[in-house]
Amino acid sequence: MAYELSLAGKQAVITGSNSGIGLGVARELAKAGANVILNSFTDREEDHALAAEIAAEHGVTARYIQADMSDAEACRSLITEAGQCDILINNAGIQHVAPIDQFPVDKWNAIIAINLSSAFHTTAAALPMMRAAGWGRVINISSAHGLTASPFKSAYIAAKHGIVGLTKTTALETAQEPITANAICPGYVLTPLVEAQIPDTMKEYDMDRETVVRDVMLARQPSKEFATVEQLGGTAIFLSSDAAAQITGTTVSVDGGWTAL
Ligand code: NAD
Repeated sequence: MAYELSLAGKQAVITGSNSGIGLGVARELAKAGANVILNSFTDREEDHALAAEIAAEHGVTARYIQADMSDAEACRSLITEAGQCDILINNAGIQHVAPIDQFPVDKWNAIIAINLSSAFHTTAAALPMMRAAGWGRVINISSAHGLTASPFKSAYIAAKHGIVGLTKTTALETAQEPITANAICPGYVLTPLVEAQIPDTMKEYDMDRETVVRDVMLARQPSKEFATVEQLGGTAIFLSSDAAAQITGTTVSVDGGWTAL
């Protein structure tokens, strides 16, 4: 049997998708035929322009909905306002780096809210829609840091491990329905956020760009290559396909071998 990779007629809601991985995944899903809902906490012309650009490029419908993923009600309203949510990509995330005894409480609370609790709220709102539609995919963007730890990233690591647990529970609660829940665990991905760190790190270590990328950023990524947003989009498309109908409650690492170490 040949499995269908077209997502025509499906609608995907991607949280935190006006830049980086979320935007890249949204573009790939649209390329595969899905209608997409973009989201972030801002409400700028350029946010809405991104949706218009994707719609024009791929002949799908695309909308930008402003909703702050640190706010429980806003998370739920995002799904309600979307009106249809066949594929839910929980991607919004922030980071803060500090030792535990100096970690600001407001940063801890924000990271847990945006990187973890938002996925609980959007999933809770989306599952009834998926059940009504008779099909659904929950794809949570965790991290290699959802499976391993590093110092000074306590909130991020707790949230990313937490989302792997939430993924497993979502999968068990939907196991006998045509709905799956999985987490993608990227290693380092060259998003604008990561790219922006390169010049400072070059100065800090007095290294050239290539050395910073290989020996500092990709120190734990055996492939010595960044994962790309297109590869993450491709993984989301595969997890959304019929070929992946029995893949549920698991993690898919896209990390150049990081978690094999
Ligand atoms: P990014 O900063 O480009 O993207 C984060 C997105 O979340 C942005 O669209 C931002 O606007 C949005 N966001 C932030 N706070 C929000 C809020 N309160 N409400 C709604 N949206 C909000 O970073 P990225 O690298 O693309 O990261 C995306 C996801 O991928 C995150 O969950 C991150 O933890 C994860 N991740 C990234 C990497 C990497 O190397 N870049 C690796 C593993 C996992």
